[in-house]
Amino acid sequence: MVWNDVEAYPREKIQALQLSRLQETLRRVYELVPFYRAKFDEIGITPDSIQTLQDISRLPFTKKQDLRNNYPFGLFSVSMDEVVRIHSSSGTTGKPTVVGYTKHDMEVWGEVMARTFTLAGVTAKDVVHNAYGYGLFTGGLGFHDGAQRVGATIIPASGGFTNRQIMLLRDFKATALTCTPSFAMHLAEVAKSEGFDPRKDFHLKAGIFGAEPSSEGLQRAVADTWGIAYHEIYGLSELIGPGVSCSCEQRNGLHLNEDHFYPEIIDPKNGEVLPYGELGELVLTSITKQALPIIRYRTGDLTRLRIEPCRCGRTLVRMESITGRADDMLIVNGVNIFPSQVEHVIAQAEGLTLNYQIIADKKGYLDRLEIHIEVDENIMTDSVGEMERLKRQLEKELLNHLYINADVKLVEPRSIERSMGKAVRVVDKRKI
Ligand SMILES: [Zn+2]
Repeated sequence: MVWNDVEAYPREKIQALQLSRLQETLRRVYELVPFYRAKFDEIGITPDSIQTLQDISRLPFTKKQDLRNNYPFGLFSVSMDEVVRIHSSSGTTGKPTVVGYTKHDMEVWGEVMARTFTLAGVTAKDVVHNAYGYGLFTGGLGFHDGAQRVGATIIPASGGFTNRQIMLLRDFKATALTCTPSFAMHLAEVAKSEGFDPRKDFHLKAGIFGAEPSSEGLQRAVADTWGIAYHEIYGLSELIGPGVSCSCEQRNGLHLNEDHFYPEIIDPKNGEVLPYGELGELVLTSITKQALPIIRYRTGDLTRLRIEPCRCGRTLVRMESITGRADDMLIVNGVNIFPSQVEHVIAQAEGLTLNYQIIADKKGYLDRLEIHIEVDENIMTDSVGEMERLKRQLEKELLNHLYINADVKLVEPRSIERSMGKAVRVVDKRKI
């Protein structure tokens, strides 16, 4: 079942819609946002220069720094009278990025989130336990509005208070869970420590997880631990928040709502547009946003796009799970690695949990990599020899698969700090 017919439009119809919406957006930003007008003028382009979808490659990119430089409302294309909502991302350094929504933008957001819930099989009959943080972060309220649109009962649990969340999950008989994958694992751990079986003592059937990159191994672990269908969601506040794309029951990529967000894949080094199927950086243009239209936004996320129709009936382009962020990539003695690749290797080994931390440091001139992994409760009682064997085996796997020499340290259960929101998988001491 699709929420909106547009999700199953033939390609030509989608593309015609994209082009007219893109042209309208370009006219809007050229007229109303001095930042874009100056950038377009600088390279001698007007909205009329863009006559086909391919012409979009002639337009300049927008980067996160551009939003910061225009803090707080410099890129808005409407007066504040028309803005009905502000969200903002926490900046670890400097100014946060601020985004705004008109009534129309809130409609669009509710629409794409309603599609997301429908993809996950959530209807008015369901109870949604929403453990994304409520507040300036787009997660909590984005999911909230979408669940309301499909008529589900929403429990605005927000983050934290894990023990209370376990109680509410059980007592209110939630059928769908929405949170980060690492928080879903944390919830399961706490539920087990309270003597519950996540598969039997709850009523969950599906979950929509995102806001952090997750390996296939972590996704499978969440699905198996809870005994639920795993749906991966992708989004970013600069474009709208959650709701840019989500995976269907076929689990072969995330359907991207390309009637609202026009996607491209580029080579992150030179900015060239790459064909469908190639790995590169995702670039998105909002083609229906009013308050804050964004042209060719460099997401920093690495993925591929696939155009073949999906067995679920949707024709919207699919993006692969995010392999990593262009800026999350670690270069260790010249070898590129992503935390998700390390996670994938850990997930194959027995007796280990997916609670890990990668620590990069220097020893003399060389990079040194340490990987701390919590072992499973049951294996702790086993012999020292067994632990040593497991450590060696993992180091060998990492060398074979990722070409890295890492010092694996198996640590006690619960000794790595737990995340309530986004997991800190990498500590790079070389930058300090
Ligand atoms: Zn599908």
